[in-house]
Amino acid sequence: MPVGRFMAAANAHYYAPRDPLGASGDFTTAPEISQMFGEIIGLWLADLWDRAGRSDAVYVELGPGRGTLAADALRAMAKAGLTPDVHFVETSPAMRALQAERVPGATWHDDVRTLPVDRPLLIVANEFFDALPVYQLIKAANGWRERVVVCQDTLFVPIAGKSVPETIVAEALREAGPGSIIESCPAAVAIVRALSRQLSYQGGAALIVDYGYDGPATGETLQAVKRHAYANPFETPGDHDLTAHVDFATLAAMAELSGARVHGPVPQGDLLGVLGLADRAASLARAQPGHSEAIAQAHRRLTHPKEMGSLFRAMALTAPDWPEPAGFA
Ligand code: SAH
Repeated sequence: MPVGRFMAAANAHYYAPRDPLGASGDFTTAPEISQMFGEIIGLWLADLWDRAGRSDAVYVELGPGRGTLAADALRAMAKAGLTPDVHFVETSPAMRALQAERVPGATWHDDVRTLPVDRPLLIVANEFFDALPVYQLIKAANGWRERVVVCQDTLFVPIAGKSVPETIVAEALREAGPGSIIESCPAAVAIVRALSRQLSYQGGAALIVDYGYDGPATGETLQAVKRHAYANPFETPGDHDLTAHVDFATLAAMAELSGARVHGPVPQGDLLGVLGLADRAASLARAQPGHSEAIAQAHRRLTHPKEMGSLFRAMALTAPDWPEPAGFA
């Protein structure tokens, strides 16, 4: 089967029964590091919504994990006078159950096609797009082929499958050397296009935070993580988290084609810095003096270039008639 189908099936099995987040799980995400992350994002959304005229809006989160980011963002938004209906796009039953505990009264969706169509959308996606399936092409001795996964005895192995016409490969990459790999993520493109179209009709904004690159480019980024360490992505499918880097340049171009304005991407550390993370950390530390060391550490993990600060980037999409979002100038 194509690598993309393998990744989709493996991740569906991986997420369905479990909560993979946190120190005792497989990986830790920004909202699980500190409440400051979700609070700042909530205030960023509330500020835009305020300057756009305070119309009735909906909070949408894609792949909300434990619901931590949503709970922190909604608390901060409420203080700014924004109390939107909440809509979650989530496929995992285990994750939905955790989200229901943190954010009672949310509405769940299997995909973005059923989101409300009558009001501005305030959309957040943190480490969501990296979980969507990528397809791969590989340069073999005699041209480009689709990379597929086959089962040999009890092992899954990636091999070069059917030939593809070289015209489907970006011109700049066609002459790449043998073994080169190109990835594409059609699901991410479809979701960004659908959301951008809705933003252009309904108003609103989206914040996408993930690690990624600006394609087209060669290089395999498909990776597996188990208990905070890298694993072989083709081994024991469904047992570890499969992710791939997000092609921000492609998503930006597609968002614009579908009617949204694109801002960034900018490094996560820069955005959080401009939006006042240091002040928030200082006031939290004053309120909880016993935790000041942990708060300083969380601040560092979220913003330092050697931690999540540069690897992760934030890209915003806005409706064409909405104001400029803070932090992207
Ligand atoms: N945003 C959260 C969780 C990131 S993990 C955080 O930052 O902590 C990825 C999340 O996306 C999980 O909630 C997972 O169940 C969900 N997910 C993965 N693939 C999905 C898909 N195709 N459709 C909807 N949700 C998906």
